[in-house]
Amino acid sequence: MRIDVLSIFPSYFDGLTLSLLGKAQATGLLDLKVRDLREWTSDRHRTVDDTPYGGGAGMVMKPEPWGLALDELAATSSDEPPTIIFPSPAGEVFTQKTARQLSTRQHLIFGCGRYEGIDERVFEYAAALGEVRLVSLGDYVLNGGEVATMAMIEAIGRLIPGVVGNPESLVEESHEDGLLEYPSYTKPSVWRERAVPDVLLSGNHAVIASWRHEQQLERTRRRRPDLLPDEEPTER
Ligand code: SAM
Repeated sequence: MRIDVLSIFPSYFDGLTLSLLGKAQATGLLDLKVRDLREWTSDRHRTVDDTPYGGGAGMVMKPEPWGLALDELAATSSDEPPTIIFPSPAGEVFTQKTARQLSTRQHLIFGCGRYEGIDERVFEYAAALGEVRLVSLGDYVLNGGEVATMAMIEAIGRLIPGVVGNPESLVEESHEDGLLEYPSYTKPSVWRERAVPDVLLSGNHAVIASWRHEQQLERTRRRRPDLLPDEEPTER
C-alpha cells in the first residue's frame, strides 16, 4: 500500500518508522511518504494560511498549495485513483470498519489541516482527483490533523496482510465482531493475591471459548451498550 501524508509538521510522523509499521516500510509492504505542504508554496515566507473571508477568529489554510500538492500526488497514483482523507472533527467518525475499508485501497493521501481548517473549495477540488473522505477521530478538537492521521495510519497499516505476524490476533480483537475483547492474563497465575480465572487454567478449549464470549458480551454491555443496538442498555 502507498500512503502519502501532507502536513506542515512532517516531523510528527517520525514515530511511524518504529515497531511494526517501521518493519512494514523496511520490507516494502508499506510505502509511506510524508511531505511538507510548504514545498508547494512559492512566496518567500512559504505561506500556507490567510485570514478568513467574512471575518472571525483564526486563520484558514490557503487552497493553492493544497491544489498543487494534490495534483502532483494524484498524478502518480498507479492503477486506481487515490482515496484522499482529510482528518476533521466535522467528518464521519473513524471506526474499525473504516480502517478495514481503507486497508484495501492502493493509495491513500492524508491532508492534515491546521489553524481553523482548510479552505472548503479544496475538498470539492480533491473529489475530481479521487474519493474524498472527511474523517474524525472522535468528538473533540485537536490542534491539527497529524495525531489523527497517525492513529488512522496505524489502525489501517496493521490490517495490511503480512504486517502483523499472526493474522489470528487481528480477528479476535475489540470491534472486529462488534464486541469488545475478552480479558487477557499471563504468568504468574497469582499476582498480588489476584488469581487468574480458573477456567483459563483448565485446558478445555471449548469451555474457554464460551467463557471468553460471555466476557465479551458482559464487558460490551457494561462499557459500551451503544455497540449492542438490539439490547436494552444496562446500567454502568
Ligand atoms: N475549526 C475546525 C472545526 O471547528 O471543525 C477545527 C480546526 S482544528 C483546530 C485544526 C485541524 O485539526 C483540522 O483541520 C483537522 O485536520 C484536525 N482535527 C481537529 N480535531 C480533529 C478530530 N477530532 N479528528 C480529526 N482531525 C481533527
